[in-house]
Amino acid sequence: MTARIVLAEGIASTRITLKVRLAAACYDVVAVSSAAEVFGQFHDAPPEIIVIGGGLPDMEAVDLCRQITRDQISAEIPVIMLVDIDHRLAALQAGATATLEPDVDDQMLMARIRNILRDSDLPEKQAGMAEQAAGFTHAASPLIALVADNPGRAQRWRQMLSGRMSCRFEIRDADEALAAATKGRTADLYVISADIRGRGDGLRLLSELRSRQGSRDAGFVIAIAPDRAELSAIALDLGAGEVIPETLGSEAAAQAAAMSLKVLLSRKSRSDQRRADMQQQMLWAMTDPLTGLHNRRYALPRLRDIAQRAAGDRRAFAVFAIDLDHFKTVNDSHGHTAGDAVLAEIAQRLQDCIGGAGILARMGGEEFMAVIDDCPPDAARHLAERLRRCVQARRVALPALSGGGAIRVTASVGVACILPGEDIWPDHLARIAVERADRALLAAKSAGRNCVVADCPDRAA
Ligand code: GH3
Ligand code: MG
Ligand code: MG
Repeated sequence: MTARIVLAEGIASTRITLKVRLAAACYDVVAVSSAAEVFGQFHDAPPEIIVIGGGLPDMEAVDLCRQITRDQISAEIPVIMLVDIDHRLAALQAGATATLEPDVDDQMLMARIRNILRDSDLPEKQAGMAEQAAGFTHAASPLIALVADNPGRAQRWRQMLSGRMSCRFEIRDADEALAAATKGRTADLYVISADIRGRGDGLRLLSELRSRQGSRDAGFVIAIAPDRAELSAIALDLGAGEVIPETLGSEAAAQAAAMSLKVLLSRKSRSDQRRADMQQQMLWAMTDPLTGLHNRRYALPRLRDIAQRAAGDRRAFAVFAIDLDHFKTVNDSHGHTAGDAVLAEIAQRLQDCIGGAGILARMGGEEFMAVIDDCPPDAARHLAERLRRCVQARRVALPALSGGGAIRVTASVGVACILPGEDIWPDHLARIAVERADRALLAAKSAGRNCVVADCPDRAA
């Protein structure tokens, strides 16, 4: 979908030119000439980016930026301010995500927009069960790694920035930075010279760090020499969150750079938080709250993965359907709370029995499913029997609220051992496996319960 950009610019000719430039890059641009019209844009579909120029009749541009970034409805919308260098600091202080010179060229303007759009997408796109949110390496004091073209410059950066930000600074050379990131000793933010030892090697380091799991969620700032301004847009497209001048010659330049770094750190902190929230929600969505086991939503795709691997390697896997016997009578005799306690205890016993070998899920009610990869028929029968026995091994204690005491619980187990055939789709294989295990379970129920029925043919499925 095309990103929607609200452009606020009071001067008609500038507004029209900018609108044409943005529209040519296929953005959906709403151009307005006053602050009041900007606020009118938030109700239906809020824009992805707001670009604020100047000459607004009803408000100073910087005040508009401040209001947008402080107002709850619009605080999440990134703002780009078109300001000259002297007003950059004020714009950042007012909450602008980034600033650009009013006469910015197309390359830099579009690179900045792409960069911001990519950044807003990041937490959703990268959320995954296997990845931990990086978070600040130290909540109270973020770590900033300085990778400059010479030690003197890195020290100067530290000197200019450290009084303005409560962060820890580490001077690293490019190899150290990469090696440390590979070993998981990442920084929250990297400030890297665009040219370290050779032309553009700082940008290569940026790409390398962004490709490593340990450092990919860090913030990146590329420091650019005055005669290498053409690298700015490239740096943004490669994933730098900001570019700053390499020579922090004046107090004002240092102040603006420190402010940019702070903006980036707070953006990173917000993304980390969103990523962590998302991972938590994904975890909750895939976990059964009563037993803490995986649920059906998690288990079935994992079963398909295992079936796929098994089909590729032509090796057997096993599916176990486990159902507690006469569980309804537990509820009927001791109440639902007692039933819940029994389910939680049995889930724990099954999990202990399986260990880290495969996956165990509560599929619903008092039914569990286990899937074990690389599990030939004998091992499958053996494990099914162990699972049955672990359920009845000891009486299950009931909560005091349900009258206390302990009851005997048993389970029936159906196990299907699947040897993948040649022309069979993994999805189909997974379905066959579950059907066979269910049928074996029904046979175990019919055979009197508290027993194992195995469907483990020697032939391929
Ligand atoms: P069978 O040996 O044939 O499996 O008999 P059963 O009683 O175990 O099976 P049935 O399907 O007749 O009953 C299952 C019971 O499990 C009925 C339902 O009240 C109970 N149950 C399902 N989910 C929960 C739960 O989350 N907590 C409690 N306490 N009971 C549950
Ligand atoms: Mg049952
Ligand atoms: Mg059942």
